[in-house]
Amino acid sequence: MPELPEVETVRATLENLISGEEIIDVKILYEPIIKGDPVKFKKALIGQHFRQFKRRGKYLIFKMDNVAFISHLRMEGKYFVQQRNEPILKHTHIIFELASGKDLRYDDTRKFGRMELRDFDDEEITSLGVEPLSDAFNMSYAKDFLHHSNRHIKALLLDQSFVAGIGNIYADEILFLSKIHPDEVACKLNDQNIKDLVLNTKEVLTKAIELGGTTIRSYTSSLGVTGRFQINLRVHTKQGEACPFCQTKIIKTRVAGRGTYLCPNCQRLKK
Ligand SMILES: [Zn+2]
Repeated sequence: MPELPEVETVRATLENLISGEEIIDVKILYEPIIKGDPVKFKKALIGQHFRQFKRRGKYLIFKMDNVAFISHLRMEGKYFVQQRNEPILKHTHIIFELASGKDLRYDDTRKFGRMELRDFDDEEITSLGVEPLSDAFNMSYAKDFLHHSNRHIKALLLDQSFVAGIGNIYADEILFLSKIHPDEVACKLNDQNIKDLVLNTKEVLTKAIELGGTTIRSYTSSLGVTGRFQINLRVHTKQGEACPFCQTKIIKTRVAGRGTYLCPNCQRLKK
């Protein structure tokens, strides 16, 4: 599932490729992708130009001339920018035909992604917490939230109402660098733990976005804009490999219902 850095990469890539383009038609091949009335969605977007490309958590926000729409890629959603005469793939569900002769195509093998028409100024996505890279995600915000919770820290990191945009991969990386056990109870974390957590969240996501920049430069339409670039993972998927800090073997376990990787030596539960 694309997380904040991948969605940010998709945002920047599309901004680079189709900024200012006019939509001349919208083909909706699989209606459930559209939340709300598909006919209204189509009618509202024809004649509109792509003006601003924004992101909130894992959501993309496309601002047009006087309407907007939001898009969540969920598990497998991806965008392609292609010439109109290129063959339409089996899993292409929405096609935005552009005045330049190109198409913006939305492809989704699992069909879980959603798009929703919004008023131009209505960017609100309910239940989303602070942006992790904003100043609002800081020591005092995190401390206040965590000290009032007896939930496990990984479950909280995945909870979009605490901080928006983190998924299973980056949660493991952030906790590993912070030397915090994913099953640790949030209110047991001390000031140093919380400081590490906040700093590592910002650092891991920022580095991943920087690496995503290479995707923008090397974009080819045959790959689609998935933002799935080579990420320098230290712990996630590294089961059986040596911990880069202490050489103990990384283990895989299950936390918050998700496959979770950790170093059993560096990340110990508090007594
Ligand atoms: Zn270790």
